[in-house]
Amino acid sequence: MATLVFKFGGTSVATRERIAAVAERVADAAAGGDRLAVVVSARGDATDRLIEEAEHTVPRPRARELDMLMSTGETASAALVAMAVSAHGPEAVALSGIQAGVVTDGVYGRGRIERLDPSRVRREMDAGRIPIIAGFQGLGPGGDMVTLGRGASDTTAVSLAAALRADRCDIFTDVEGVYTADPRCVPQANKLDAIGYGEMLEMAQLGAKVMQHRSVGIAQRFRLPVVVRSSFVDSPGTSMMAAEAVEIESVALVRGVAHDTDVARITVRAVRDRPGLAHGIFQPLADHGINIDVIVQNLSEAGTTDISFTVSKADMAAAVDLVRPIAAEIGAGDVSADASLGKVGIVGVGIQSTPGIAARAFGALAEAGINILGITTSEIRITCLVAEAEVEHAARTLHTAFGLDADSAQ
Ligand code: ASP
Ligand code: MG
Repeated sequence: MATLVFKFGGTSVATRERIAAVAERVADAAAGGDRLAVVVSARGDATDRLIEEAEHTVPRPRARELDMLMSTGETASAALVAMAVSAHGPEAVALSGIQAGVVTDGVYGRGRIERLDPSRVRREMDAGRIPIIAGFQGLGPGGDMVTLGRGASDTTAVSLAAALRADRCDIFTDVEGVYTADPRCVPQANKLDAIGYGEMLEMAQLGAKVMQHRSVGIAQRFRLPVVVRSSFVDSPGTSMMAAEAVEIESVALVRGVAHDTDVARITVRAVRDRPGLAHGIFQPLADHGINIDVIVQNLSEAGTTDISFTVSKADMAAAVDLVRPIAAEIGAGDVSADASLGKVGIVGVGIQSTPGIAARAFGALAEAGINILGITTSEIRITCLVAEAEVEHAARTLHTAFGLDADSAQ
């Protein structure tokens, strides 16, 4: 008897018919003898609509109340799915994130899970009930409702699976698994049967939307087997596992191409070349929970250097507000921001240790006439910043250049 956590995304519970299909799937799995806990997202674009509603009510909704509002999306899903599952036979019980033991650091809108006490969930399972848990929400230290950031129902699911020491976490979504690139912009993309945690983490960070990247990091830390699969068609999906296990199967060195258009770049000019100044700029951003991505610091010329970094577009204004006074204080030049960028990158274990990969990527982009505005690398990733308008073209170009197009791939 396996203990499984199922997670159903927003599209999987968007309509009554889909909720019925989810209920059937859950009931079947329970009938097969598995011990189940289920995590659900808000239905369809419910979260977007709640945010819009708030912004129509007041221009700058307070974060605390916005969390109260947004959390209702998942709460409603959990209640409806629990009703539907119970109607299919097995008894189900809807739980809020707080009831399910999710404890966060209390940062509204982007809370991080500090602890997850699964005792209530376990109790329900022991009593033969299927807990249906609202994702994306948890308890703050002051007793408030806190949401966990966009897409974070995945984080709830993976954290719960880790806390329950589940045998597997199945992420049911509207695509059949993880692809070598986003099939909506690269029609030649192929589904991967398996992907390493590290590769998946880089893909997710680079903009592959199939799983929220924090959830991938948690799965990696706990070595939790995760399967990304379709909730609409029965197919094996993509298994996420330790790299050693994947490498045996993989032939291609470059496993995937991911891109993201949610990129804004902030540049601080003429920062003096002195220890501590970069820290002075980035610490306040960290204190405000703003995620920094690509950082580029030029070689210093005449004792000063330009530092640029990227953030998500939603964080751009706040980041500029934080950095401007610091730049003035440390005697740097002007601070500028540009929201018309995107990033595209290639991912695969062994990229850095294989000569010629970077040259091939840059060569392919050059041949396509795409200008590279910044580059970062990790052991298993090379990312290029490009103009937003060129991101999709760049993704298709790299996909072809590394032999990932359907027919030419493994
Ligand atoms: N409903 C939330 C969102 O749209 C969380 C999630 O779907 O994972 O971001
Ligand atoms: Mg999602």
